[in-house]
Order: sequence, then C-alpha cells, then structure tokens
Amino acid sequence: MSQDYAEAGQLDSRLPPIFERYRYEARYLVQILREVQDALGHLPAAALSAVARALCLPRARVEGVAGFYSFFHLTPVGRYRVLFSDNITDRMLGSGELIDRLCNKLWVERGKVSEDRLVSVDTTSCTGMCDQGPALLVNGRPLTRMSAERIDRISELIRKQAPLSDWPREYFLIEDNIRRYDELLGRQWPNGEALKAAVARGREAMLAEMKLSNLRGRGGAGFTTHIKWESARRAPCAGETPARYVVCNADEGEPGTFKDRVLLSSYADLLFDGISIAGFTIGATLGLVYLRGEYAYLLPALNENLARRRRDGLLGTRVLGEDDFNFDIEIHLGAGAYVCGEETALLESLEGKRGVPRIRPPFPATEGYLGQPTVVNNVETLCKAALIAVNGGAWFAGLGTKQSTGTKLLSISGDVETPGIYEYPFGVSVAQVLNDCGAGNAQAVQVSGPSGTCLAMHEFSRRIAFEDVPTAGAFMVFGEHRDMFEVARNFAHFFAHESCGFCTPCRVGTSLVANCMDKIASGQGSQHDINEIFKIHRLLHAASHCGLGQSACNPLFDTLNKFRPAYERRLRSLAFKPAFDLDQALASARQMTGRDDPAAHFGLAAGLPGVEA
Ligand code: SF4
Repeated sequence: MSQDYAEAGQLDSRLPPIFERYRYEARYLVQILREVQDALGHLPAAALSAVARALCLPRARVEGVAGFYSFFHLTPVGRYRVLFSDNITDRMLGSGELIDRLCNKLWVERGKVSEDRLVSVDTTSCTGMCDQGPALLVNGRPLTRMSAERIDRISELIRKQAPLSDWPREYFLIEDNIRRYDELLGRQWPNGEALKAAVARGREAMLAEMKLSNLRGRGGAGFTTHIKWESARRAPCAGETPARYVVCNADEGEPGTFKDRVLLSSYADLLFDGISIAGFTIGATLGLVYLRGEYAYLLPALNENLARRRRDGLLGTRVLGEDDFNFDIEIHLGAGAYVCGEETALLESLEGKRGVPRIRPPFPATEGYLGQPTVVNNVETLCKAALIAVNGGAWFAGLGTKQSTGTKLLSISGDVETPGIYEYPFGVSVAQVLNDCGAGNAQAVQVSGPSGTCLAMHEFSRRIAFEDVPTAGAFMVFGEHRDMFEVARNFAHFFAHESCGFCTPCRVGTSLVANCMDKIASGQGSQHDINEIFKIHRLLHAASHCGLGQSACNPLFDTLNKFRPAYERRLRSLAFKPAFDLDQALASARQMTGRDDPAAHFGLAAGLPGVEA
C-alpha cells in the first residue's frame, strides 16, 4: 500500500503535462494512456486512478479501456519488449525458428518476462511489413528482414542494454517496394494541389465530380463514397457544439496489407489533401487520422507535414483564404486492436472507449464521432478523392470497370519474387498479377486477408473488382509446397486472438474453431471436427455482431472446399476422437505400478468402443 502511495506521489509530476496537452478531455483517453505508459513503462494501478481522477471518469472505465488494447500493459513488461509479427507470411519466412533462437539466446520463455525484467519475447498480429519480413517490433519500433545473424546481434544488444538508437540503422530500414505504378503512384503530388482544385470547383461541384467518378471505398466494403459524403453534408448536427468530422481510417490491420503504410510514408501530402477535400465538401471543421499503433514510427513525419500545411495556409482558419473553410487535422494512435478497423469500433476508440463495434443504424454519416455527422474513409479512398479533385470524375470513371472505377493498390507478399505494392486498374486478372510479381508455382492466393477469399489455381482467371473478387488490398501468394491447412490454422488463431469478446458467438466460436484446428493438427482430429467447423461457420455468419465474427471462418470454409486433402490426411479416423487420450495419460501410472495387462488399459478390459488395442 505504502509503495502504491509512493508511486502515486512520483506519478503526479509526470502525468499532469500529459493531461494538459490533451486538455483533460476524456475523448483522448487512449492517447493519454499511451503516453502514460511511455512515461512509466506500463500502466500501474496508481496511474489508472490518477487518469480517472484527472478526466473525471469512473476508474472502471479507465481500467476497461486499458485492458482492452493489446499494446497496453497493466503489469511490468521487459525493458526490451520484442514482438514478432505472426502473420502467415512471416512464418513462411522462418519467424518461428527466429523466435525460438532469440528466446534461447536470452534465456527467456516465449510470452514471459525475464526474471531480471530485461526482456520479453512474444508474438503480435501482422505488423504490416509482409513485403520485408520476417518483421518484429522492439518497444514499438518495427525492424525488418530478420535473419539468424540479425537475431544473434539483437540478443547481444539487448544483453548489453544498448539503446535502440545504437542498434544498426539498417535493421530499421523500411522500404516502399513500389513495383507497379499507375495513376496514383505514378507521379508526385505537390502539397495542396488537389485541395486547391477542389476549392476552385466549389462544394456542390466537387460532390458532383465524386458522384460522376463512382468511387467506392477501398477499405473492403466498397460503399459508394459520394453517398457517404452527401449524407454527412445533409445530416443535421446535434447538441450544443454542432460540428461535422472526417475520419481517416489508417488502421490497416488486415494481415497481408501494407499499402496504406506506403501512402502514409510517401504520399502523405495527397492523403492530407484528400482529408481536407472531404472536410471542405461536407462542411467539416476537423479531420482525424486513426493511425494503427504499429505505424507509430510514422507519427513525427506526419505531424511535421501537418505543421507545414498550417504554415502554408492549407490548414487552420480561412484555409486557402476561404471565409467559410476552417479545418484542421489531428492524428490519433491505435493501441493494437484489429477490430478497430471496423468503422464504428474505430469511432469508439477515437472517443476514448473500448473499440467495440456499434449497433447500426444509425450510421456514422448521420451519427458518428461524438454523435455528429462523420465521413469515415480509408486512406486509399481519400487519396483517390484527391485525384478526382484534380482530374475530374469522368476521367476517374474511365479507369477500371463500370462497377469498379479507378485503380487499386495491392499489397503482394508470400511466395513471389518481388513482393511489394502494385497499382492496377480494377479488372486485372489474378493470373496477370501473379505473372507480374513472379509467382511461378502458386497453388493459392488469399485475396483481401483472412476475412477475404482464398482462390485456387482454377480460379486464377478471375478479376480483381467488386463485381468479381473484391479486396481491401492484401494479396498473399502460396506456392505448391505450402500446407494450406497450416495457412488456415494461422488465420483461425488470428481471429480467436482478435475477437473483441463483445458477443458470445464470436468470442466462443472463434476459440472453438482454433481448438478444432489444433486438434486436427495434433493428429487427434476426425470428421466430427470438420463438421463442427462447418456448423460454427454457419453460426458465426448468422449471429455475430460485426464483420470480424461473420468472416472468421471464411478461410477455413474456402480451404476445406478447395484444399480438403490437406485436412483429410491429418484425420486419425472417420469416427469421433476425443482431444484427450485417457489411455495414453495413464501410461506413467502403469509404468510406476509395473502393470501393462489389458485390465490396466482404459477401455480394453471393459471392451469400450473407440479405443485402439
Ligand atoms: Fe467483437 Fe467478434 Fe462480436 Fe465483432 S463479432 S463485436 S469482434 S465479439
């Protein structure tokens, strides 16, 4: 108790500057907790109490938020916190062996903190570096292209307690790896060019261009962008401080996706123009970028860019000299929750709450951030809006296909010669993409991440487009030598890990499915388990609250239908097999008692069915 009070005394001097920077506003709770943790190493109980007092929030609310996000720690963690990216493409590049190697070198058990509290080693969901994996995070900073040599060197650096600033710079190198350029990636976009074009057009004309373009959201759902913008523009504001908002969803957490990382790194001017254009068109005063925690390393450069825009009159009051255009942009960091990619969960998180998806309707366009009309668009969508401001809606509609206009950025990884970012007009065939990235022996492509579609070889003539194979951008390629069962098992664990736990079908169903897959992997599976997976798939699809649960079994469903032998060769028998082998468990008891007669074996003496002699 006395230590807690002593801690609280120490905390007082470090926390108020954080509270003041966020004006003691509860909507910044996630940001405040991030900074408190940065200052203290973790979130001790006394710190949670101090945050609750400062923000006038119930302590249970603060603790509930702190406990929701995987990058928050309520107990001490290692001074070096190593998190390996656990996407299937990282595994294919050997991340599993590298984790074991590092744990052995550092004498630490995976998932535990070393006794001297120096280091912890664990895994995290995809860190968005699949084109340059195996990747990991050390104290939140991404490192790429790991190898046995690099892991050995890292273990030495950690033992010596070398600060990250002294680590080899090349370990932190993150390349864009742009392999195919088209209308978006193919040219430089000067700061403000697109915004000036939009302002010159005027609000109604800009909206008309958006309609003409038929731009659809690039985050996966493909909702028509101009309808969102028009709804938010026309919707009445609520409350004493009426406002409209633009939210940029930069929480690209879908495993295998990293295109937004490149847009945020090298096309931020275009993105900020797109956000400002949306703000101008709908009459918003504030844009918020929700940046995934794994991309925190981009924050300084992005904030610098925003400061430059303010100096250039592209943000602030009377933007570009327009009397009725006051607009600014702020960046919020996520804290490790895949579900926050869902737009209403993202809004909850922005408001300083647990990232649990809202019940819809009402939709964000009419009742979004802080209950006000809000446009939520993906990074790529907003970049495309900027292109439309410059070149017009008809030009944009002339690219791609009738229902899928414009171009699409693909994040290509896996068994290919040249992983990276490829920009194509919509309508390109999967075979063409595979040819371009050097995927000579592909047996399957997982399009749009684990929640998307798994295509087998006979489907490679299909086209990337909303009317055929829609995608948020991930394009993971699996060569003939890959075990598609293990691919699906990785995805099953991903969903079980990322379920937010709000609704029972998803919370329980995703864990049951992951257990079934583990059971099959261990050689204890049977047809019964396959039937269970199909049953849970139907249940999750029908009864889950949000898209995560609804799509959690998609990869299993696809691989079971298209790569069934990968499952069947693991099945021990077509009859039911329990996961726990009771007879085997009694082996040591038999050994100790020196008995091995039939009566000492479970089932044999009694002639119970289903037990092998
Ligand atoms: Fe949360 Fe899953 Fe329910 Fe979505 S479906 S609300 S992720 S528990």
